[in-house]
Amino acid sequence: MHEMAMAQGIMDIVESYARKNDAKKVRVVSLIIGEMAGVVFESLEFCFKALAEGTVAEDAELKLHRTPLLGQCNDCGWQGHIVKYNFFCPKCNSAKVDIISGRELRVEYLEVD
Ligand SMILES: [Zn+2]
Repeated sequence: MHEMAMAQGIMDIVESYARKNDAKKVRVVSLIIGEMAGVVFESLEFCFKALAEGTVAEDAELKLHRTPLLGQCNDCGWQGHIVKYNFFCPKCNSAKVDIISGRELRVEYLEVD
């Protein structure tokens, strides 16, 4: 399962951070998840809770920040929100639109004790 692998990745980051900072408890894990990362947040949270059981992150709260899917046109320079996965430029109809954000999944910050 996609979300389980992601939850494992997040857990690795959280545990190594907690070790480095001598944290006894992780309170908040804030995540940035792009609109197109293909993550169902509820599943991710469920997997994370399962993995976190018995660790420093057992009671951690997951916070979610969604970032919109943004594109840039290589022909006319347009930048903006890509709606409904329409990857043609709304200004010049070019197909040369690059994704500049919206696919990321990363830990934004952690709050620990
Ligand atoms: Zn364009």
